[in-house]
Amino acid sequence: MVSEGGNFCEKSKRNFGKIPPRPSVEVVWTWLADVPDPEIPVVSVVDMGIVRAVDWDDDTLKVTVTPTYSGCPATSVIAMDIETALRDRGIANVALKTQIAPPWTTDWLSDAAHDKLRAYGIAPPSPAGGPTACPHCGSANVSRVSQFGSTPCKAQWRCESCLEPFDFFKCI
Ligand SMILES: [Zn+2]
Repeated sequence: MVSEGGNFCEKSKRNFGKIPPRPSVEVVWTWLADVPDPEIPVVSVVDMGIVRAVDWDDDTLKVTVTPTYSGCPATSVIAMDIETALRDRGIANVALKTQIAPPWTTDWLSDAAHDKLRAYGIAPPSPAGGPTACPHCGSANVSRVSQFGSTPCKAQWRCESCLEPFDFFKCI
């Protein structure tokens, strides 16, 4: 305990004068809102509901993230992107915490995320278990092509009205 305290003091002294003013948590949230989801770049990691909490612990910024689909290869990329974005803003100490409970659900997608997905040509998740409308033309006349789309998190559907294929964000 004594040595830990000593280390802490040394560390504080070493960094003294180099630490830029600590940005507020609100400001950090706006920065994170610029970090795109690696799979769907039009949607940010905040829109996705992946970032759960942002807190300062002394001079360390703690960011709590909940991975989306388990085994989604994007998870480690997301962690790295968040860390890089914060370091680019001058935050030297970032502690990323992964929280797996409660599990991520598509309910955590923001309203903005739904709009952005649609604009990107992806049908947003819907409680019906399938897309309610074609993201291209709005037709409800849609059918499933494949259970898997461009990534395991999506299914491929097709619109019978405009004949355009589109991805549906699978609900979990
Ligand atoms: Zn259509």
